Amino acid sequence: MKIQSVEAYPIKLPPLGDTQERGDASRNQYGDYHIARDAWTSIYSSRHETCLVRIETDSGIVGWGEGQAPVSPRTTATAVEELCRPVLLDADPLDVEYLWYRMYSAMRERGHVSGFYVDALAGVDLALYDILGKALEKPVYKLLGGQFREVVRIYTGGGGADPEGARKTARSQVDVGYDALKLHLRQPNREIAAIVSAVRDEVGDTVELMVDVHGARDVSSAIQLGRDLEALDVRWLEAPTLAEDVKGHAEIARALDLQVATGEWLRTVWEWRQWVDFRAFDAAMPDIARTGLTEGKRIAALCDAYNLPVAPHVGGGGILAVAATIQYSAAIPNFQIMEHSHVAQKNKGRIAKVYPEPVDGHFPLDDTPGLGVEIDEEAVREFSV
Ligand SMILES: [Mg+2]
Repeated sequence: MKIQSVEAYPIKLPPLGDTQERGDASRNQYGDYHIARDAWTSIYSSRHETCLVRIETDSGIVGWGEGQAPVSPRTTATAVEELCRPVLLDADPLDVEYLWYRMYSAMRERGHVSGFYVDALAGVDLALYDILGKALEKPVYKLLGGQFREVVRIYTGGGGADPEGARKTARSQVDVGYDALKLHLRQPNREIAAIVSAVRDEVGDTVELMVDVHGARDVSSAIQLGRDLEALDVRWLEAPTLAEDVKGHAEIARALDLQVATGEWLRTVWEWRQWVDFRAFDAAMPDIARTGLTEGKRIAALCDAYNLPVAPHVGGGGILAVAATIQYSAAIPNFQIMEHSHVAQKNKGRIAKVYPEPVDGHFPLDDTPGLGVEIDEEAVREFSV
């Protein structure tokens, strides 16, 4: 089998239903994008954006992948079409790991060892796994290492500006079957403790709670917050301090009994290695639409060698990112729990005719060959930019 064509589709899906205007005075607004003026937060889009990769073989099999691109999907698409395509054309698509390594090495000496370029590789890697599964008529988890579990447990995300809002959101999520919730909170420590306390009161002792502060703490205030959260039986504190501060993360992890979960921005084993060396976290959060399945498996193996669990990040990833993460979560020994956006799922699914749906806080596994998504090519073209 040979690869005949490689195409990238940068897509932007408008939100379903009510669209809230986000252009308030504390933000810089540019088109769909907005960013806070007064805090070091990420730039966000009001749309669902990502980069899809379509690879066709001479035997007629088509594989679809996704390199996560919550903003600027055309940047990732350019890397796929200008840099990955020449490596891939006429190659055997079943040489999946070789091809990841070949593409990675093509830009290594120039320092493009993470970021948009490695996201592009992830998109290709997912598409190649989709082809491999379709060629062998097996779901990808069977080819990644086999089925380690019956279902994939998930949590969904919430939060809120105040205790009452957070309480309501949490109640609605528990009512549809989730028994694990993550709160995205950027408030001062005392306000976070009040919000989590209200949510704990609402959902009771049996629901697992996690808190993500998106790196917005120094080391000592992260430790103080962690102690408050331990008293509320919180499972993990996510991204407690700056993404670059490996030793700071390690100090926090050592000081606290709850888990420090982190690493959605780390794409390769070489990036993860120093975090493992310093034992700078308790739960690894690789994002499969940034690492690819190939590198994701190596990261899981590295963590497993150090008795560290993996809780895959999905964040703003699209429906193929969700599907690939389910396959990955099924096929690694040290899986803990997978992130899932309950609210965004329907919008993400608009580019597919068939895609995985959660049931009562987990994803069931089935035998669909490949990643388990049937793409609607017409919809992809409609939302392409
Ligand atoms: Mg996070």
